[in-house]
Amino acid sequence: MPRDTVPGGGPVNIPAARQPALKVHSPTLLIIAALLTALVTTVLYAVWSFNRNIPGLRLWMVSFLLGSVFSVSLLVRDWFPEVVAVVISQGSVSLAAYLCLMASRMYMGRRPFSHWYAVVGIGALMVASVYFTVVQPHLGMRFVFVGLGAGICFLLTARTMADGGVRRVPARYLFALVAGLHGLFLLLRPALFKLAPVAPGGLPDAGLVALVSQFVLLEAIVAVVLLGFGALMLANEFITSELRHLAEMDPLTNVFNRRAFLTLLDKAISAAQRTGTAVPVLVMDLDHFKNINDTWGHRAGDDVLRHFVMLAHRCLRKEDVMGRLGGEEFAIFLPNASAAGALAVAERLRALVEAQPVATGPQSIPLTVSVGVTLCAHGDAAGAALQRADEAMYLAKERGRNRVEVSEKILGTPVAPAATAA
Ligand code: GH3
Ligand code: MG
Ligand code: MG
Repeated sequence: MPRDTVPGGGPVNIPAARQPALKVHSPTLLIIAALLTALVTTVLYAVWSFNRNIPGLRLWMVSFLLGSVFSVSLLVRDWFPEVVAVVISQGSVSLAAYLCLMASRMYMGRRPFSHWYAVVGIGALMVASVYFTVVQPHLGMRFVFVGLGAGICFLLTARTMADGGVRRVPARYLFALVAGLHGLFLLLRPALFKLAPVAPGGLPDAGLVALVSQFVLLEAIVAVVLLGFGALMLANEFITSELRHLAEMDPLTNVFNRRAFLTLLDKAISAAQRTGTAVPVLVMDLDHFKNINDTWGHRAGDDVLRHFVMLAHRCLRKEDVMGRLGGEEFAIFLPNASAAGALAVAERLRALVEAQPVATGPQSIPLTVSVGVTLCAHGDAAGAALQRADEAMYLAKERGRNRVEVSEKILGTPVAPAATAA
């Protein structure tokens, strides 16, 4: 029996009498689709080969490769028995959609689904496709089933990617939009063929079926191009955020470096000026840190620095910002805290550091910290405020270390309580 093809649906049995009228596929569009998916695969491979740590990129690459396999399988369908052609075309589409979902989950740092979901889901689709090809041939049902599996995967992809804030990570939302629209289209696609009026003889109008098929293939081509661009934009977003992380963060303690901290403090001061509030700033220096290095070694010294940051985070709120100014000197600003609140945080941190020595094997390293506090008020600059807090910290050193001191040269709002001491 002669066969013809509807894109996404695999070969369809056409009665011999209807054959010339039902040439629904367009080899030109199929070749364009195959070339485009192969091109996108190649570009993604090139990006991946230079940046193998971009999460999900490898799976997206394989997903586009399967898209290419799908287009080629439709072109050469006559070389295989019908059921084999159906299994290859529908299997590659379903697997491509599933891998796209897996890639998105990897990119977003989510746990991958158990592969059993894919085995069971795609297996069930294959059984249905074979059933509606061999046992009870029905193109429409095959079309519904393959659209259902791939459509759901693309909708889940959209849901996974739309996270993180559209202003901060626009590429994710663009990808989600394209995947979501494509998923919806795949689910609703079979209804398009229902639009074709039934001609005498019980078959749908061949011309309209051909038109709808070409529209379906065009939509797939547009989706491939946009998803390919989306994947490249996501790769770019990941590389940019990695570079920004490297430029802004201290690699040892994973808090902001001095430059990034000063930039953020400047921004916080400007924001506070608009609301007429002041930003408390703490500068902290570990006491006798050189002795720790000399006694326990440089590596233990590094552990002490990380331990201190971990303790500091216990005393801070989400909006508070910590930076490493250099060596064993750190700073924190607390955008929403009052002067009294900042002093309370400083004292809590000092006491916590004293109470929690650093555990290194059987022994522990005692640690104390000296803290200087100041307020950044109207007309203040980040550098000047840091300088004042630094002076207050050195006052704490002079007065015996393991203390909190407050800068006396505070602009604007006075700091309420007097300095605290251990
Ligand atoms: P003080 O109580 O007056 O602050 O004395 P201190 O010993 O803490 O200060 P000092 O400035 O004399 O010594 C700081 C030491 O910190 C010297 C330097 O080798 C060490 N250091 C700086 N950066 C690092 C680092 O990244 N890791 C380690 N382990 N040590 C560091
Ligand atoms: Mg020190
Ligand atoms: Mg120091």
